[in-house]
Amino acid sequence: MGLLSEGSPLTWEETKKYADHVRNHGVQQFINLYERLKDRKGDVLKWGDEIEYMLVRLNDEAQTAQLSLKGPELLKILQQQEHTNPSNHPTTWRPEYANYMVEGTPGKPYGGTLAHFNIVEANMRLRREEVRKLINEQMGEAPLSLTAYPRLGCPKFTHPTYEPNPTDTGASKSIFIPDEVIFSAHPRYRTLTRNIRKRRGEKVCINIPIFKDIKTPSPFIEKFLNDADGESARAAMADHIYMDAMAFGMGNSCIQMTFQACCIEEARSLYDQLNPFCPVMLALSAASPFYRGYVSDIDCRWYVISSSVDDRTEEERGLKKLKENKFRIHKSRYDSIDSYLSESSDRYNDIDLVIDEDICKRLQDAGIDRLLARHVSHLFIRDPVSLFSELINQDDSQDSDHFENIQSTNWQTMRFKPPPVNSTIGWRVEFRPMEVQLTDFENAAYVVFMVLITRVILSFELNFLIPISKVDANLNEAQKRDAVLNGKFYFRKDVRTCPKHCKGNVDNEYVLMDINTIINGGPIEGGADFPGIIPLINQYLRSVNIDLDTRCTILTYLNLISDRASGKLKTTARWMRDYVQQHPDYKQDSVISEKINYDLLTLCNKITKGEHHPKGLIHTQSSRTKDDLPLSLKKQVDQDANVIQKHEEEMRIKSWPEQNGV
Ligand code: ADP
Ligand code: MG
Ligand code: MG
Repeated sequence: MGLLSEGSPLTWEETKKYADHVRNHGVQQFINLYERLKDRKGDVLKWGDEIEYMLVRLNDEAQTAQLSLKGPELLKILQQQEHTNPSNHPTTWRPEYANYMVEGTPGKPYGGTLAHFNIVEANMRLRREEVRKLINEQMGEAPLSLTAYPRLGCPKFTHPTYEPNPTDTGASKSIFIPDEVIFSAHPRYRTLTRNIRKRRGEKVCINIPIFKDIKTPSPFIEKFLNDADGESARAAMADHIYMDAMAFGMGNSCIQMTFQACCIEEARSLYDQLNPFCPVMLALSAASPFYRGYVSDIDCRWYVISSSVDDRTEEERGLKKLKENKFRIHKSRYDSIDSYLSESSDRYNDIDLVIDEDICKRLQDAGIDRLLARHVSHLFIRDPVSLFSELINQDDSQDSDHFENIQSTNWQTMRFKPPPVNSTIGWRVEFRPMEVQLTDFENAAYVVFMVLITRVILSFELNFLIPISKVDANLNEAQKRDAVLNGKFYFRKDVRTCPKHCKGNVDNEYVLMDINTIINGGPIEGGADFPGIIPLINQYLRSVNIDLDTRCTILTYLNLISDRASGKLKTTARWMRDYVQQHPDYKQDSVISEKINYDLLTLCNKITKGEHHPKGLIHTQSSRTKDDLPLSLKKQVDQDANVIQKHEEEMRIKSWPEQNGV
């Protein structure tokens, strides 16, 4: 969840005093870094994924599935292995927000060759195995890649069990979540929790619509028992599931991916081009329909996590006139991006970008171009929300902690990452919206799919830009129940016109499409055809040298994505909803009981381990090469190969003439 600095955390009151200091030096650090690294060229494609795991304890006797707070204990051992063999360990482990979480990444980033796609899934399996070896499987402990734990914040949802502390001594003051849930081996997380609440001036507040089933009380209004000062009762909305702590969002899991570009220009362009994919991939990966023991009416975590760290004051949110604060701010610090970075993308920058004008001027005076200066001065409208006394005074030519402090607490859909000081790492872009899937196979599929998208964009010089306000509208659409089937998303019609050559009204450049059309291609408004991302990828794959093994692996992955997009397969969210609907204990009242939760997570664990094949969710549990595949799947591979070939032939004839040089 970002930078971990050593030392003693400052209180909010102290941190606040240093806000301008952190910003001043942070900006200087960025200027120095930019000056030194702006001409850095020739970096090769590298990329890596980050996956967050939840430790669940399935108690067969009690029929409960609690979250096990063993994270710090496991992390110590997991990191030991990595420390004793730093250059050659296949995995790395990092803490995450909650004591029931750990984050794993490959030990080294992957490179540009397609053959690396063959080891992505194996590495994910290995990570899970490393955790499995350290937990007590006899006691029902399991590492699940679950986007949102269905009963987070319900009574006794952790092992061991703690009581929430809604008094002023609590970090979150939540009436649902004990502070013991927050990662305890480093003070950063509790400090962030407390400081975000203090800066905001009240508890964070999350209201998401409840799924109204036939027996759900209407209106749905909850009574809270330990809400002594009435804050929760005032904040909770009727017909909504109310949540009041950072853990409800930051305690969710996701997949993130980082791509290194060859130079800063390519990184800026990739940042822009991947932005329209954020809502699409969120909808395609939807995996979190349940919150605080209820069935919600959303399929993804994004709005929840965004609200869970919204530290804006009432003034900044526009509820009061500006007096103490400097800016009216439209979004949480965890939200979608507000501007594109490349000069040729500027015509799509159509939303009000709140910036610190002084910082922007300073950056421009230092030779940084307008769009990058505006990007940084937008990030820097935020206050630091965690600061360590040892790090207050820094050498701005050598350190970047103040810059990173602000940068890494702007948790946006995309992140533009400058090279770290004194490292061999280049300019990078992080893609952050995706929800995590139950199996390593699925996670590998989504990850490989995203890498292929970057390859297609860069090799074919494709252009997916649409006005940024439309991407925001899409992000909203993406979170709705079954958005993958029913959602309409603004998407670019003609992806072949280079941004530099686009002229005229930007609003003529996009239409509403469904996810199936975006991913698999098909007719769009106005009689034209959209080529589809997967057909484009297949065309790219035909243009590069690729061995059969890798081709088969990719095929199984693309198959999953394609079928999720078309609705042939369910999203994880839909599959979970259906499971609950048909559970004998479910009373059509939107409640996920302890027993339903236990059965669901027990089944999830079986799916993750390959012991249960859920109909309609996945075709296969692993991307074995064609020779290893069972007969039925072998047929599928052959069929797919035919389909691909047909697609390609059709495209050659119809909309995608090769002489165009895509
Ligand atoms: P975060 O900024 O989210 O903390 P990290 O810097 O820890 O992310 O790295 C996230 C991912 O980036 C990991 O999967 C890692 O393997 C990958 N990675 C590391 N170095 C590079 C690089 N030079 N280029 C691209 N990805 C890299
Ligand atoms: Mg992380
Ligand atoms: Mg990350």
